[in-house]
Amino acid sequence: MKAASGMVVSMHYTLTDDSGEVLDSSREGDVFSYLHGHGNIIPGLEKALEGTATGFKSKVTVAPTDGYGEKNPEAVFEAPREHFPPDMPLELGARVYADGPNGPITLTVVKLTDTGAVLDANHPLAGKTLHFDVEIIEVRTATKEEMEHGHVHGEGGHQH
Ligand code: ZN
Repeated sequence: MKAASGMVVSMHYTLTDDSGEVLDSSREGDVFSYLHGHGNIIPGLEKALEGTATGFKSKVTVAPTDGYGEKNPEAVFEAPREHFPPDMPLELGARVYADGPNGPITLTVVKLTDTGAVLDANHPLAGKTLHFDVEIIEVRTATKEEMEHGHVHGEGGHQH
């Protein structure tokens, strides 16, 4: 079977940046599974995997525009200390969860200031060219329930 809309694709992948640093990998854990054609993964990778089958191995390079987007400088702003929970230690790299206009967002503390911290609402991978080393483990037809939910159930997917 080949990866196409309505198919569940299971794969192992290692993600590195331009310098070769490993940003993420499935190799130490479960395979990663997604429902093809439903925008569950970044467009550049989904496009590259279209039509592939079990055993396919490849390196895929994804530009920021086909990945997590370019960095938006306006999504970096300073927030005063009182905007954070009093018991939350402010440190570099700390993640802050907040309600955004389109649902929950994750912000990262990128700088500490005298009165608070500078937060970055960009996705941590925004602006990065992504290098995926992928191996397709299985391609199967999605169940009716998975199609209704728009995502994968079971191993490597939603457990509910
Ligand atoms: Zn579901």
